[in-house]
Amino acid sequence: MSVAKLPHVAVVGAGPAGLRAVEVLVAGGLNPVLIDEAPRSGGQIYRRPPPGAERPAADLYGFEAAKATALHGLLDRLGDRVRYRPNTLVWSIEGKRLRLLADERFDALEVDAMILATGAMDRVLPFPGWTLPGVFTLGAAQIALKAQGVAIGRRVALIGAGPLLPLVAHQYRKAGAEVVLALDVTAFLPKVIHGFGLLNAPATLAKGLWYMARNVLGGVPMRFGARRLRVEGTDRVEAVVWTDARGREHRVACDAVGASFGLRSEIQLADLAGCRIVFDDLTRQWQPERSPEGRSSVVDVYLAGDGAAIGGADVAELTGARAALTLLADHGRPADAARIDRLDRELARHRRFRRALEAAYPFPGHLLDDLADTETLCRCEGITVGAVRAAARERDVDEINRLKALTRTGMGRCQGRVCGQAAAEILARSRGVPVETVGRLRGNPPVKPIPIEGGL
Ligand SMILES: Cc1cc2nc3c(=O)[nH]c(=O)nc-3n(C[C@H](O)[C@H](O)[C@H](O)COP(=O)(O)OP(=O)(O)OC[C@H]3O[C@@H](n4cnc5c(N)ncnc54)[C@H](O)[C@@H]3O)c2cc1C
Repeated sequence: MSVAKLPHVAVVGAGPAGLRAVEVLVAGGLNPVLIDEAPRSGGQIYRRPPPGAERPAADLYGFEAAKATALHGLLDRLGDRVRYRPNTLVWSIEGKRLRLLADERFDALEVDAMILATGAMDRVLPFPGWTLPGVFTLGAAQIALKAQGVAIGRRVALIGAGPLLPLVAHQYRKAGAEVVLALDVTAFLPKVIHGFGLLNAPATLAKGLWYMARNVLGGVPMRFGARRLRVEGTDRVEAVVWTDARGREHRVACDAVGASFGLRSEIQLADLAGCRIVFDDLTRQWQPERSPEGRSSVVDVYLAGDGAAIGGADVAELTGARAALTLLADHGRPADAARIDRLDRELARHRRFRRALEAAYPFPGHLLDDLADTETLCRCEGITVGAVRAAARERDVDEINRLKALTRTGMGRCQGRVCGQAAAEILARSRGVPVETVGRLRGNPPVKPIPIEGGL
């Protein structure tokens, strides 16, 4: 292939995936634009405190301190070969035009190609008491600690269905907070059964076990297989109540709760860019189709990191570099075949680990089966679980966008980013059909709330 003119490339997301992508693009001779709505680079895992409130990397990131420091320094090293635009939200994509909002000013950027590395957010599922003041997501609890250096409460209960639970419990305890409970709503046995598959990433497995051991030694009560979960309180959180596998009820008093159940990819921009979105059985979520090389179904739109498929920080770095190498090759730049081969082998190993991890933390659908009709499902619009079940039964609703039109579920500020998956699950359960058959909420701009004043 002959060497073509240098493409104008935007990378959306300055987390591990986006940062490694710009590094490769710069090494390939390009001057990419790097856009992120956050004020500083690092993404979710390597989120930084605001200037003036810095703390040592070892305190903030533990085992990952060296990786965090390396990534934080990357943009300094690349200098003006990257045009970095922090505090800038990409609120829509039309073809190859990115619609931007920065400092309340609207702007647009036309590019030849883009790498979307938009990351993930907590997967939220409702349970009795989830809207009480004092209930946060696990991720939000961690953000409070990493970014602001504060805990969400004095007596904190953490609830989850994934590896973030033991990690956040460890981080809270290390920071001096009292963690009164680390409650896993998945059973312990699958973690033993799939332990062999987890050996595909021995260092990650060792860290997970270390966090668990430190929590136990540090006196954090760790419980597995919780059923019939609820958070009690009148004006705010007062206790977590659950039933164990033998049917015994437990109650732990607390003044704050961090709860979420795995992660979900932020796919809205890929959706607006026209990428084909497919259902992933493993994680029970819709994700943009991505080839092993990082291509989407749309020419010149590439995908990397957790925004394309949940894989964790190391995989995000690998897929970021991989997508950028593919972009360079597609635009006639020389490809480093040995590096590509190394990346592909690493990624294959991580895929085996991921399959085992998802099996070790199966989707906790029992939380949804237990919900009374009166529970809130969509908090933006105040829609109850019962309203969704009634629409399925009485109005023959069998598709999630129709449900949205008829009940307003997912029509509020979060655009279904928080309630969408639970709504689809409850609709599917009410109809007795697999969740993928009820579809997914179509992406609409703006992907996040934006001011109207200032003109679009
Ligand atoms: C709250 C939270 C905490 C986590 N903590 C950990 C942890 O401690 N350890 C761990 O191993 N994993 C953690 N994870 C998992 C984490 O997602 C990955 O490990 C890793 O950060 C993924 O890297 P990434 O580059 O794919 O995405 P991210 O690191 O999520 O980076 C994506 C970036 O894209 C930006 N972005 C997204 N949409 C837009 C838009 N429309 N416009 C502009 N910018 C946009 C975001 O601001 C973000 O900086 C956490 C996940 C979440 C959601």
